[in-house]
Amino acid sequence: MTRQEALDLFRSDDLIGIGMAADAVRRRHHPEGVATYIIDRNINYTNFCTEYCTFCAFYRPLGHAEGYVLPKETIWEKIRETIELGGTGVLMQGGLHPELKIEWYEDMLRSIKERFRIHLHCFSSPEILNIAEVSGLSLRDTIVRLRDTGLDSIPGGGAEILDDEVRQRISRLKCNTKEWLEVHRVAHSLGMRTTATMMFGAGETIEHRLNHLDHIRRLQEETGGFTAFIPWTFQAGNTSLGRSVHEEATAVEYLKTLAISRLYLDNVENIQCSWVTQGLKTCQVGLRFGANDVGSTMIEENVVSAAGAHHSAEEEDLRRLIRDAGFIPKQRDTLYRSLFLN
Ligand code: SF4
Repeated sequence: MTRQEALDLFRSDDLIGIGMAADAVRRRHHPEGVATYIIDRNINYTNFCTEYCTFCAFYRPLGHAEGYVLPKETIWEKIRETIELGGTGVLMQGGLHPELKIEWYEDMLRSIKERFRIHLHCFSSPEILNIAEVSGLSLRDTIVRLRDTGLDSIPGGGAEILDDEVRQRISRLKCNTKEWLEVHRVAHSLGMRTTATMMFGAGETIEHRLNHLDHIRRLQEETGGFTAFIPWTFQAGNTSLGRSVHEEATAVEYLKTLAISRLYLDNVENIQCSWVTQGLKTCQVGLRFGANDVGSTMIEENVVSAAGAHHSAEEEDLRRLIRDAGFIPKQRDTLYRSLFLN
């Protein structure tokens, strides 16, 4: 799909036609009629952060009474619970702590791997860049050291919109587009898989969204290292950006963007729809708008819920949602491999 074709779709009112086209591409990638989900847990090891992103309701400045750094014992306990619930992975992310050096992260990763068989999908690009900076290390050495002590893959957080005009407005202090991409490029070159995300509906234009999709498509062409693309919408509650962006993206806008992502990112195998921000019903419709995965059961979620999105789902809810959309539900692991013949 050319950029102009994508632009025309964004401007079109033919939502159903766009959805059907995306559904056809989804079927080409996943002809077996399966839609997947994962049982895992978000662990946010710290909410201390120096970046002050205007869309974020989660962070606390250093020294704030509500700030925390989770002790290792608490992290282990959360992982133990996750495994008991059939979980296979942990998505661990936090704020950008100005004082934690790489040894702290290495110690945490090592201590987890010594105790549990669990996939560790941790540290978005801004966190990795922050660890490198605080520790005085190169980006490559930082990723190698984290990998060697237990990091299995890297989540696509911190991408928001990969366009520096938008980033200047909503996350001025955080890494720029080039830096975000470079973390993923280096990780891919080391054989590590990562995901790509996009947070939209934060006052950006369609052109900005297309710039984002272009960056992801080009890097995927170069490395092939992205397992999935996960678009989700800005949640305005309790954020300073929420006071200037009048309303959150509608379900129609979400579905259209999801479908165009499926069409545009033909080289990314998996597209995930988000029940956490959209609710279960819109997520279910998303399975007919290009998505083949509904994400995680989210045993714990702190970041989006801090901004007012309080949807919840258990494994059986996700399986029913998938079945009712006409697909066979299958549990997968973090790398999108089916786990059971269920
Ligand atoms: S989005 Fe991440 S980097 Fe930005 S303020 Fe929140 S925790 Fe910090």
